[in-house]
Amino acid sequence: MSVLVYTESENGKFKKTALEVASYAKAVANQIGTTVTAVTVNAADTSELGNYGVDKVLNVSNSTLEKFNAKSYAEVIKQAASKEDAKVVIVSQSADSKYLAPLLAVGLNAGYASNVVEAPSNTAPFTVKRTAFTNKAFNMTTINTDVKIVGVSNNAFGLVENSASASSENFSPSIPESGVTVQSVDVATDKVTIADAEVVVSAGRGLKGPENWGMIEELAGVLGAATACSKPVSDLGWRPHSEHVGQTGKPVATNLYIAIGISGAIQHLAGINASKVKVVINTDPEAPFFKAADYGVVGDAFEVVPALIEKLKAFKAANA
Ligand code: FAD
Repeated sequence: MSVLVYTESENGKFKKTALEVASYAKAVANQIGTTVTAVTVNAADTSELGNYGVDKVLNVSNSTLEKFNAKSYAEVIKQAASKEDAKVVIVSQSADSKYLAPLLAVGLNAGYASNVVEAPSNTAPFTVKRTAFTNKAFNMTTINTDVKIVGVSNNAFGLVENSASASSENFSPSIPESGVTVQSVDVATDKVTIADAEVVVSAGRGLKGPENWGMIEELAGVLGAATACSKPVSDLGWRPHSEHVGQTGKPVATNLYIAIGISGAIQHLAGINASKVKVVINTDPEAPFFKAADYGVVGDAFEVVPALIEKLKAFKAANA
């Protein structure tokens, strides 16, 4: 009766969120006195999972699962949970996992708690802390079903190295016809994605126009960060919609969020509140973002950002 964790990979390589949910699964397994089994789909090398506490890997290699399909993936995890007699199943809060988790909950007749930010405060009854009201509040939720599904918020628990050596087993679930075939996937960018990034550099209408995004890209490049933007910026077509963050865009729960020329409207803050450290660069000292920020620079982005890039490059060169 192990804890089962679904560890997502992309092009065969584990995402950072996969290692985070593995770390979380290990914490739960320690609490209930059991082991961790991970289920992976078309992962190239599963040994890395051992470093984050996974004891056993069920590795599914199946060409029909090359493109994500929520129904088929939920079926794979369901069969893995049955095989392991898992009473707790852990998933991330990636877009894919958010699609598959409700289907999995139906399949396993399980209760599902999303947006969980801490290891369970209690395992009997099974109680977890979750964010609510777009990260403005927390609630404690008890899952009362026999099988429990926990969706762990990105960057909430962090990576915990927990060396074990993971055994690997090929797993061949039967995958019924899903009724939907994903024909092709257009990847929006080959850069760091907002979901996987440790740092996000985000810019708003204060940048005046799309021609000024070179310095934002450069700052993101120096920091190994993903780029993001406010809603009007993507509405105006200055940046792709995949970069729009906030209440109606992507949520950001990163370690460092740098907001440049963004006023800090409530709908923007709603999506980035869960970020650990927020830095704001804005000419207007009264901009609402300063109230939500950990660090603020009152200044012109066109002066501050190039100076910041220069300093960061010098720092990196000195510490190379
Ligand atoms: P502005 O409000 O125009 O702010 C620009 C800022 O740049 C100002 O603070 C200004 O002082 C500063 N600035 C100007 N020049 C410079 C300079 N040279 N250097 C530095 N700073 C400078 N917005 C989102 O972002 N995400 C959402 O998901 C979202 N969802 C919404 C949902 C609804 C239902 C509604 C009604 C609105 C939503 N909005 C959302 C829009 C939101 O209310 C704001 O209008 C928007 O966030 C403002 O974008 P902005 O800060 O880029 O632009």
